[in-house]
Formats: sequence, structure tokens, C-alpha cells
Amino acid sequence: MKGAVLAVGTELLLGDVINSNAAWLGAQLAAAGVEVVASAAVGDDLHRLVAAIGQHLIEADVLLLSGGLGPTVDDLTRDAVALACRAPLERQAALEAGLRAKFAAYGMTMPAEVLRQADVPRGAEVLDNPVGTAPGLWLPLGDKVVVALPGPPHELRAVAAPLWPRLAARSGTVVTTRQVLLSGVGESTVAERVEAAVTLPDGVSLSYLAGGGVVRVRFTTSGPPQVLEPLLAAVDAVLGDHVWGHDQDTLDGVVHDLLGTAGQTVAVAESLTGGLLGAALSQRSGSSVTFRGSLVVYATDLKEELAGVPAALLEAQGAVSAETAAALAAGARDRLGADWGLGVTGVAGPNVQEGKPVGTVHVAVAGPAGGQVRSLQLPGDRDRVRSLTVTSALDLLRRHLQA
Ligand code: ATP
Ligand code: MG
Repeated sequence: MKGAVLAVGTELLLGDVINSNAAWLGAQLAAAGVEVVASAAVGDDLHRLVAAIGQHLIEADVLLLSGGLGPTVDDLTRDAVALACRAPLERQAALEAGLRAKFAAYGMTMPAEVLRQADVPRGAEVLDNPVGTAPGLWLPLGDKVVVALPGPPHELRAVAAPLWPRLAARSGTVVTTRQVLLSGVGESTVAERVEAAVTLPDGVSLSYLAGGGVVRVRFTTSGPPQVLEPLLAAVDAVLGDHVWGHDQDTLDGVVHDLLGTAGQTVAVAESLTGGLLGAALSQRSGSSVTFRGSLVVYATDLKEELAGVPAALLEAQGAVSAETAAALAAGARDRLGADWGLGVTGVAGPNVQEGKPVGTVHVAVAGPAGGQVRSLQLPGDRDRVRSLTVTSALDLLRRHLQA
């Protein structure tokens, strides 16, 4: 079964909005066993849209459209589907009532154009939108199907949720992807060790994805999923303590789980990350059980005043030093009353600081049985240095919690 994705919106062509829906829909189609043969973007132009729908339906059995389902004049997807598929629009009373009720619930008067969202091409099934007003559409055309989804990514994902099992059932193939997640080791080292350790059975493919300080080792098969189990176990064995999770795990989630199991807490004192480490540790609901708080000590005097880094140390070693990172970690642990402290300091750039080059970063942990500092030379621009620092700090704590 072949699939195509058509993202609608002039803003996508001009680069005002990154076409992330296309990436996500492509991945979902592939996981549902659909071979993705094309992915394109079209502007808000009725004729081009009608032409593109017709064009893609020559090869694709399933065509997914994203965007242009809203109430405004530039939202043309509904009209284009009706024209291209010869399925005239019909107003659905139930949808109209639903739209009126949604507006009434918020005490807003409903502009007349909103009712366009109650127009459905003849023969189409309405896909409920639990998080917005524009519903999705599923229009069967003989053996093929055209699906229209709203553009805002969170709406698109919510409306599309019921599609994937349906498409998997149609394609008759279920693709399983399993992954091992690692940090603190380079992609090429990972590849070298993995390839020495595993022999891929027929029908299993292996790929690597690196980014944000995390390397992902992925195995994919359309055969029985159990064949992937021993491969994951082999990667775990050969990469040891670099491995922190599998599949949908997140590093902050793993850290919270380990802390929770130990009945312990963490606090942080952060300089170059300006709060990002605290944000990472507080993003999961329920994190208050294991995360105490963060001292954002950007200015040198605050490192002393709030985190208790001795003035003499700052004077002698500088704000960007292994010793300061260790003192920040100890200060966070002590002053915020946590079992574990993390301290980060470094040069995010673009300018050198204290004569130290951009990317010089010191990450420290302080715990019940002492501490450790990791001194790093991180690559990339300011954003990247800061986000890699967060990953390194979480990974350092994770290693100590697992030791
Ligand atoms: P609305 O009812 O909000 O108008 P819509 O279905 O008409 O929804 P669009 O008007 O095309 O959708 O897009 C609305 C917003 O959704 C865009 O401004 C953009 O922020 C986001 N968006 C649209 N298409 C994409 C895409 N392909 N990738 C990522 N974001 C997108
Ligand atoms: Mg719109």
C-alpha cells in the first residue's frame, strides 16, 4: 500500500512555518506499514491544490492532507477535496450544532464563516477533533482514501490518532521499531561496537540517529516483533553504562524514576543554562516528588551569595572552572536540602569568557557519597552548547544513581 502526504499552506513554502507535520505523518505512515512515495507542500491556491490532490492519487492509495481546514478564506482544503474527488460539500446538521455549542460554551458569538467547518464532502466520514473546532475528514474513493487533517500540530495528532490502526489493518503490515538510547559516547563508536556484536536476521534493518547528546540505535522489522528482543539485549550488553533507556524513555524521566525508587531528591545550581536544567527536571508532571528546585546563578556574585561558592575559589579559578562546578553542585545540595546536587558552568558563546573558548563546560554532581566533575568541550552554537549541557548533567546524575 502506497501513501503520500500533502501539506497545505503558503506559510510552509515561504519558510514561515517549518513543515513538521509532513515529517510526523511520514513517520506514522511508515510505522503503519504504508510505503511513503511522496511528500509535498502546496500554497493556499484552490487550483493548485485540486491539481496536486489528483496528481498524488495517481500513485498513492492513501493521501494525507494537513492544514487549510479552518474557517478563514485561505482555508481551501475542504473545497479542493470536494472538487478533486467530485464529492460536493454538504452541511452536516450535527457538526453545525456542535460548533454552535462549542462557541456558546465559551460565551463567544460565532462568526458565520465558522460554519464552513460543518461542510463535509459527500461520502466522507468525519474525524472528531477533541482539541479544536475543525474536524478531520476520511473520504473513501474506491480502493483509495483521502484524509484531511487540521494544520496545528497538536490538533493534527489528536484527530489522526484513530487513523493509524485503521491504516495498519489496511496495509496488512505492521512495522515494529525498537530503540536503545545512549549518552556520553559518539555515534561512530556506538556503530562500531554494535556491528561487532550483532548479526541482523533477515528482514531487520539497523539505523543510528544522533542529536542533542543522545545516540539512538534503532532496529526495524515488519516480521514478528520478538526477533528484536535479543538485538536490544546485545546492544545493552556491549554498550554498558552508556545505555540509559529504550523506546519512548526520556533522560529526565529515567532520572526521576531512579530518584523515586531510591526515595531521593535533586536540586541544581546553573549558570550558562539559565534555568534550562531546572526546566528539564520539572517538565514531567509529578516531578515535585524528586526535584527540589534550581538556583539560576548567572552573575558571579550570585554564585557566592546564593549557591555558597567561596569568593576565594571564584577569584582563583574563575566562574568557569571544574572547582566552581563542584562547589555549585555542593551548594545546591546543601542550600536546597536535596540528596543530590548538580552544578553547571561554562561558556555558551558566542564570545570567549575568562580566556576560555566557547563550548568549555563543567558539569558536576554532588551526592551522599561524594561527587564528580565532568569537563567537556562541547560543539555548536549557543543553543546547542546549552542543550548539550543539560543532557550531560542529567546523564552524569543518572550514572551516579545507577552506580
Ligand atoms: P486553523 O483552524 O487553525 O486555521 P487549519 O487546519 O486551517 O487550522 P492552517 O490554517 O493551515 O490549519 O494552519 C494553522 C497553523 O498550524 C499554522 O499557522 C501553523 O502554525 C500550523 N501548521 C500548519 N501546517 C503545518 C505543517 N505542515 N507543519 C507544522 N505546522 C503547521
Ligand atoms: Mg487556517
